[in-house]
Amino acid sequence: MQTVGLIGGMSWESTALYYKLINERVRDRMGKLHSAPLLMYSYDFQGIKEMQYAGRWSEAAASLAEVARRLESAGARAIALCTNTMHKLAPEIMSSVTVPFIHIGDATAQRIRAKGYRRVGLLGTKFTMEEHFYIDRLRAHDLDVLIPPADERADVNRIIYDELCLGIVAAPSRRRYQDVMAALVAAGAECIILGCTEITMLVGPDDTSVETFDTTAIHAETAADFAIG
Ligand code: GLU
Repeated sequence: MQTVGLIGGMSWESTALYYKLINERVRDRMGKLHSAPLLMYSYDFQGIKEMQYAGRWSEAAASLAEVARRLESAGARAIALCTNTMHKLAPEIMSSVTVPFIHIGDATAQRIRAKGYRRVGLLGTKFTMEEHFYIDRLRAHDLDVLIPPADERADVNRIIYDELCLGIVAAPSRRRYQDVMAALVAAGAECIILGCTEITMLVGPDDTSVETFDTTAIHAETAADFAIG
């Protein structure tokens, strides 16, 4: 198998899911006592959040690029960045290493296109929903992307940073997400992207009438499949 380098800690709640999901995939596909050869760098997320909210993106990019280089030189044969939001800096990471970068947006879009959907509803942080880096990546796979209106985006974002990243999973927040997803479906979404790696802690297939695409599971499976070769 090939070693995969994980850039995690954003937040550690979802990185813990990655660790479990990648190993479960390897176990299911390979049997015996097989598990995934992994290297992980786990950030202190407070510092990352401060950089995001202050717009200090070039500082964040330099740090992520350096971590990716360290993982490559430690033996990683591919890099997976365990957060949708920080894929804003995917170009800087990709150009800092020679090994493949397993892009969460590409992996997700490929699954969605394989099912024949075109119009997707996107939930994620305000950065993921409102900026170009993620939506354009999905559009490159011929997807139409719908996002919630401003007041709903604010709640979706707040619940990620103030609750899910702290391990808080609350029923009123689940109801809010259910309503936001219902509105996206009413607006024409054929499926919903859980486009933040903590959202899977709160909602899943039973919380909406259309199919959900869990970026954490999809990305973890793609990383495991790379490891297996
Ligand atoms: N894990 C989240 C994501 O997938 C949000 C945390 C972050 O800002 O990186 O976007």
